[in-house]
Amino acid sequence: MTRIKHLYLHVPFCSSICYYCDFCHRIYSEDLSDRWLDVLEKEICEVCDDQYETIYIGGGTPTVLSYEQLKRILSLLKPFSKECIEYTIEVNPDSLDEEKILLFKEYGINRISMGVQSSDDELLKSIGRRHDFNTVKEKISLLKKHDLKNISVDLMYSLPGQDINILNQTIDDILALDVPHISLYSLTIEENTVFGKKGIRNLDEDIEADMYELIEKRLKDNGYIHYEVSNYCKEGYESKHNLGYWNYEDFLGVSAGASSKIGDHRYTNTSSIEKYISSYKNRDEDLVLSKDDEEFEHIMMSFRTIYGLDLNEFNQKYQTDFMEKYHDIIQSDLNSFYIENKRISVRNLEILNHILVRFLKSN
Ligand code: SF4
Repeated sequence: MTRIKHLYLHVPFCSSICYYCDFCHRIYSEDLSDRWLDVLEKEICEVCDDQYETIYIGGGTPTVLSYEQLKRILSLLKPFSKECIEYTIEVNPDSLDEEKILLFKEYGINRISMGVQSSDDELLKSIGRRHDFNTVKEKISLLKKHDLKNISVDLMYSLPGQDINILNQTIDDILALDVPHISLYSLTIEENTVFGKKGIRNLDEDIEADMYELIEKRLKDNGYIHYEVSNYCKEGYESKHNLGYWNYEDFLGVSAGASSKIGDHRYTNTSSIEKYISSYKNRDEDLVLSKDDEEFEHIMMSFRTIYGLDLNEFNQKYQTDFMEKYHDIIQSDLNSFYIENKRISVRNLEILNHILVRFLKSN
């Protein structure tokens, strides 16, 4: 069996629920999170058995946990993080403080992903965020003061009440933060969110397209590489953990709601905290992927980045010849692909879905 290089740990708690969010999460309570931690400890001790190249603690909001709870998680992960080259934790500006930053440093965390979303305080309030942009600036300075400079920020567009001028100002403000990685999210209103229940609608598609174009141009003009459908970075600052997903490598996920993929086996732990506390082995999904499923998923994930798909690796893994098997698709639309050094990628990530449909139909 190949070595699992990537570990994801999900913290399913938040201090409040943002109006657009439908992830697996609960409002933080010390008692519930302590009981969750007891089970998480058992799961980590029983399923983690390797040195991981990347570890990602996401959520939810990991920093909603107390200092002691975070310390307990980081101590549990310590035996598996000795060879870790990228160790990320997601933080929210309002629940991050200097004590927690020092703790992260002590346990080898070297990358921070911060939920910023916008620099417009009114807009932040209107989407249910608890922070303002001044807090973002303070916390970014604090991280840099402690030499945690590998920072990614999340930026949202197509938000209700956001117009092109507000977005343009947010881009100015985000650029001024001088961080090496930016993740971009377009709001899609889901029925089970606060926005969905209030009947709030998505912005017009044309406005959304204008916003996307603006972000794309301004970030590229400022030296960011659009290296994945939703991610931009300065050279050398790609998320190594996420590259693992996009290269279709195996990964292990622990905690409620976390997914794992090991060979052709994919499973997702139950997203119900109660069910998870009764046994971490409760699952929402547990399936064996067919060879066709794996091949298609591999193509779909690899084409998300500008680095594309490694042909040798693909051919070896599935005992096939990619260029021969998909000859008709590639030849009929040669200009859409970039083929060099035994890799194939999609030239224009904006038309990725259109291309993927053709691969799906041929599988
Ligand atoms: S967007 Fe993030 S912080 Fe807000 S509720 Fe969802 S997981 Fe929690």
